[in-house]
Amino acid sequence: MNLKITETKKYDIVICGAGCAGFCAAVSAARLGCRVALVEKYYGPGGILTVLGNNSIDRFNNPFRKSGKMVITGIGWELVMKLYKDGFAAVPDMDAPYENHWQYGVRVNPVAAAKKMDDMLIQSGADLFYGQPVVDVITAGRLIDGVVIASKSGLRQLFADIFIDCTGDGDIAFFAGAETLDGDGKGNFQPGTLRFYPATDSKERIFDCGDNRNHVVMNVTDSDSLTRSEIYARAMIYSDMVGSGERIMAVAPAVAPREGRRIAGITEMKAEDYRNGTVFDDSVCYTHWFIDIHRNGRSSQIEYVKNPETPTVRLSSMISKNFDNLMMAGRCIFSDRETNSALRVKASCMAMGQAVGTAAYTAIADRKAVKDVSVLKIKDSLAEQGAVVPGLCQGLDFRKVML
Ligand SMILES: Cc1cc2nc3c(=O)[nH]c(=O)nc-3n(C[C@H](O)[C@H](O)[C@H](O)COP(=O)(O)OP(=O)(O)OC[C@H]3O[C@@H](n4cnc5c(N)ncnc54)[C@H](O)[C@@H]3O)c2cc1C
Repeated sequence: MNLKITETKKYDIVICGAGCAGFCAAVSAARLGCRVALVEKYYGPGGILTVLGNNSIDRFNNPFRKSGKMVITGIGWELVMKLYKDGFAAVPDMDAPYENHWQYGVRVNPVAAAKKMDDMLIQSGADLFYGQPVVDVITAGRLIDGVVIASKSGLRQLFADIFIDCTGDGDIAFFAGAETLDGDGKGNFQPGTLRFYPATDSKERIFDCGDNRNHVVMNVTDSDSLTRSEIYARAMIYSDMVGSGERIMAVAPAVAPREGRRIAGITEMKAEDYRNGTVFDDSVCYTHWFIDIHRNGRSSQIEYVKNPETPTVRLSSMISKNFDNLMMAGRCIFSDRETNSALRVKASCMAMGQAVGTAAYTAIADRKAVKDVSVLKIKDSLAEQGAVVPGLCQGLDFRKVML
């Protein structure tokens, strides 16, 4: 091997993955005063929301509540409001009666969203490491000491007291040797989707890739499978172009994955609790989407939450079972497959990110392992930051949180 470690840096918190979850975790912890590094394999923040082009953010509200419908606010909503103010977000009326599940998605312009995320991250004081994937993890017993990232000038080591895995795919946990769960446990994953834009109009189109109909299973834990999926998706779009004469001008840089690894945590989130909207002592944020497992190009399992209950996310599902200083947020948290298919939506990932960033800050400030920190203290801090916190607040009125 020729590559050498060319640089070593030390932080309080290293966050890996700058999607919806990692972005909110970084802004929260850095604003509270931690030295934060945010590492991202692509050259910008936002993950599936921006880089991979899925620009709808679901769902900030629980439409089945009579009042206090907004169950997620905080940093994710702050981003939406900044975009809305500049004309780059379409915010639906969250008080309108329920008609269908698409109705309350906030649509943002992905380029503007990535720019505003850059602004918020830079203003928070976080150090950004874009275009530098994590390629290794340094461990010592039950602790992670550092991550190794690949830069253009060689390998860099980032040491920290706490690490947060927001890679969606659970790469950091896996590289460290932590336990993970994959898809349905039998090698099947929900299909990913490639977005592309025809030359004739700017209306995006999608191609579902990796469903079993086409004998291509997109296994996001296997790079050979991902390579095959990308080649297959491109071939299908090309054959469409040849057949229809329509030209495609832009394609997202990769197929967007719905499902990756789920990292073993202290407590697994279960579908029964999700459906019933159980509030636990360590519930730190709300989420609101139905159980939604895609297969064969269509949603094959849909189950609604017992309305008007609102499901919550537990802090103990976002703390690793194997490493005392590893947390996770976003679609890779410890949850059964059904629950994961529901809480993976973007607004929930944002709420989880903010909760975990705040928990990590509190652990650093109190010099404790995160599992030993007072959950009440974390909740109070989240509430001070404007987040809706289970046990403290059921929800906010839409009109009051709009600009
Ligand atoms: C096709 C599709 C349609 C969807 N539709 C909707 C919708 O309409 N509404 C909605 O709310 N949600 C939707 N979702 C779900 C939602 O978009 C995602 O679950 C959510 O964005 C996940 O956020 P995240 O931060 O957990 O992960 P991601 O957005 O996946 O972010 C993870 C980040 O980690 C980075 N990363 C990965 N590995 C490494 C590494 N080794 N080193 C460094 N960085 C790394 C990635 O590049 C990425 O930026 C959809 C998902 C898909 C795939």
